[in-house]
Amino acid sequence: MQCADCRSLLDAYLDGELAEGERASVREHLAGCADCSRERAALDRASVRLQALSPRATLARGYAIVRAGDAVLRDAAGVAEGMRIEVELARGALGARVEDVRP
Ligand SMILES: [Zn+2]
Repeated sequence: MQCADCRSLLDAYLDGELAEGERASVREHLAGCADCSRERAALDRASVRLQALSPRATLARGYAIVRAGDAVLRDAAGVAEGMRIEVELARGALGARVEDVRP
């Protein structure tokens, strides 16, 4: 495998999207190519930084995303008692109704 081939498959390799044959070819090339290994390490670091910014990472820390319809709620002032809301958690979601509003 040439470096250009490895680079073109690297994203899919890191995402676990390659069939075993291609995966093995990329793995073998990375084991013997310092340039492509550095590229892989740079992609890994970028991936970690992006995951830290993801709303999913925030949910995993115990926060929730609250929506009314398609809109994300950021301000209690726009919410009415009795409004149906969706609460998205790290695992699963809740449908709920607002009992009282404290803007
Ligand atoms: Zn290479």
